[in-house]
Amino acid sequence: MSKNSPHSTPDSVHSEPVSMNPRAEDSAQSVFIALGSNEGDSTAHLTQARLFLQEISTSPIRASRVYQTEPIGPSDDDFLNAVIHIGWEGSPESLLERLKEQERIQGRPSRYPKWTSRTLDLDIIDFGGLILNNDRLHLPHPAAAKRLFVLLPLYDLAPEWHEPVNKKAISELIHQAPEMRIEVGAWQWE
Ligand code: ADP
Ligand code: MG
Repeated sequence: MSKNSPHSTPDSVHSEPVSMNPRAEDSAQSVFIALGSNEGDSTAHLTQARLFLQEISTSPIRASRVYQTEPIGPSDDDFLNAVIHIGWEGSPESLLERLKEQERIQGRPSRYPKWTSRTLDLDIIDFGGLILNNDRLHLPHPAAAKRLFVLLPLYDLAPEWHEPVNKKAISELIHQAPEMRIEVGAWQWE
């Protein structure tokens, strides 16, 4: 899909009725998490990661469509990318630890050269609009403002989203983002 083509509102955005933790609902943060996989059985990795995110979310998750995208950097294999919205009660650091633990469970070595192939990448894109920069965590995630593989699935879920630092609308960021090969994937959530 060209980034200049009108981005249709998906009819395949998933919302799942599942049990939630009513205690946590009020104080939960609204968090967008980007998923990426281009090694091993990527559809299985996304499926497993989605189940994991449903388990840790305080509310029913919402998932974007799955996109197939060209790798940036030295990898040869296309990525599957998606964004999932969760509710999270706790600090951004505690969420990052859970995400890293899940990456390890799903076969990712703890040290990876940047940009190489990965079984699973889980990035916090936006944590309730929080702006944070320290050694371990950058919020919003720097890729959120400039990578179509984050922006297009995020648009599926939140077309009204604004980048918290400079307040730019997601539609504007999509039009300014560098071209890359990205299309709605042949495989979608089951
Ligand atoms: P990338 O996702 O940039 O390809 P990694 O997944 O290897 O690279 O992440 C490297 C480090 O980025 C992580 O160990 C984590 O501490 C840090 N990081 C900083 N900000 C974020 C964020 N918003 N979400 C996830 N990881 C982040
Ligand atoms: Mg990452």
